[in-house]
Amino acid sequence: MTTQSGPGRAVHIIGAGLAGLAAALALSKSGRSVCIHEAAPQAGGRCRSFHDATLGRRIDNGNHLLLSANRAALDYLAETGAADTLVAGDGPIPFLDLSTGDAWKLDLGTGGLLRRLAAPVFQVPGARCLDAVAMVRLATARPETSVLDALGPGPLMERFWRPFTTAVLNTDPEEASAALLRGVLGTLLFEGGDGLIPLTARDGLSESFVDPCLAALAARGVPLGLGRRLRAIDLEGNRATALHFQGESIALADTDDVVIAVPATAASALLPGLTVPAETSAIVNAHFILEAPGQVPGGGVLIGLVGGTAEWVFLRGDLASITVSAADTWIDRPAEELLDLLWRDTATALGQPDAARPPGRIVKERRATFRQTPEAMKRRPVSTTAWRNLVLAGDWTNTGLPATIEGAIRSGGAAAQALMDARE
Ligand SMILES: Cc1cc2nc3c(=O)[nH]c(=O)nc-3n(C[C@H](O)[C@H](O)[C@H](O)COP(=O)(O)OP(=O)(O)OC[C@H]3O[C@@H](n4cnc5c(N)ncnc54)[C@H](O)[C@@H]3O)c2cc1C
Repeated sequence: MTTQSGPGRAVHIIGAGLAGLAAALALSKSGRSVCIHEAAPQAGGRCRSFHDATLGRRIDNGNHLLLSANRAALDYLAETGAADTLVAGDGPIPFLDLSTGDAWKLDLGTGGLLRRLAAPVFQVPGARCLDAVAMVRLATARPETSVLDALGPGPLMERFWRPFTTAVLNTDPEEASAALLRGVLGTLLFEGGDGLIPLTARDGLSESFVDPCLAALAARGVPLGLGRRLRAIDLEGNRATALHFQGESIALADTDDVVIAVPATAASALLPGLTVPAETSAIVNAHFILEAPGQVPGGGVLIGLVGGTAEWVFLRGDLASITVSAADTWIDRPAEELLDLLWRDTATALGQPDAARPPGRIVKERRATFRQTPEAMKRRPVSTTAWRNLVLAGDWTNTGLPATIEGAIRSGGAAAQALMDARE
């Protein structure tokens, strides 16, 4: 069946992850007639919550941390009426080295720029003043340099740069792009102390980032079609002319536009010749229901771990959620084995080493983000394409940011802006 696109200047958004939702928000606000087509049975993509029958709980697909410097994400939440659904971590972040028992706190959020830059050197046990010099190498790192090559090995690498790099770039320092990490640090440090406050979703990722946005879009009359996988696009000359879904095709009018907001591999399958970051990197999450609400040292919402398997423990009442980033070596291990390993680390972190393993669930995201290597940086496309009515959005496009919520939301805004500029 072939239908004509609706009346007026329609924009078809393919993919209801945060990039697609942010594009829909901006375009519907500008008065465009928008409709969203999503392949999955739900919106949210890689940032969503779901009911887990094993735990009898709603859980997130994975822990997501924001920082108060993530202005686009905070603006998105404000526009959808969800600004008050994040909780801010108070004070310094506690860390524990599971292999030695060393504990420390990292306070990057107070004092002037120099103090914050020097904080890891003074606060991380084993770090040397010489490590501060290595930061100059990061500042001048060439595009092809990895984080490890720029900053060098040592205790500061293992206790600060490695956890920071894998958390932010989901890529080991041996492979991660030093230039991308430098960009992140620059934004965070120059944003001032307030920019470094960690923020987490109070109730769940969907409750913050998906459901309120869908409600705002529904109020603007934006339809969301679920289970609608785009299979092919007709491209003629410099225009996209038709969209083909299972059992339905849409002929695009001359005034219609398309936003492709799907992951990189899906975009390159739809658009032959498009260069995208090719490799992906996994994240493993575990969720445990504790017997009673847990506490991390200092009473915050998270603790960083080194020297074990678990990397971060996030607490939401009696739910402890554990992250292992850059987890390609773990992703194929059986869930039971991962639960045992990660519970051992979690119990130590929460000060209950003898506790029996509580009910738990492993969530594996094999393609959590693209692998953020120097090579991949060269393969990130801008939002505009050779087809004047088709733009790209997604955390893998050339936002200058890592593949994060902030990057995805900015990419959606940039795609929307490119269409608005082109139609002016
Ligand atoms: C476990 C995990 C932990 C993370 N932790 C953090 C964190 O701590 N902080 C942070 O900021 N970020 C984090 N991220 C990254 C963040 O979730 C992503 O950067 C962001 O959600 C990507 O959004 P997106 O819209 O670009 O892509 P996606 O969320 O992948 O959205 C793309 C959508 O397109 C749909 N789609 C695909 N193909 C088609 C098709 N042919 N037709 C129609 N629809 C299609 C998909 O179903 C999907 O809904 C994490 C990600 C994971 C997986």
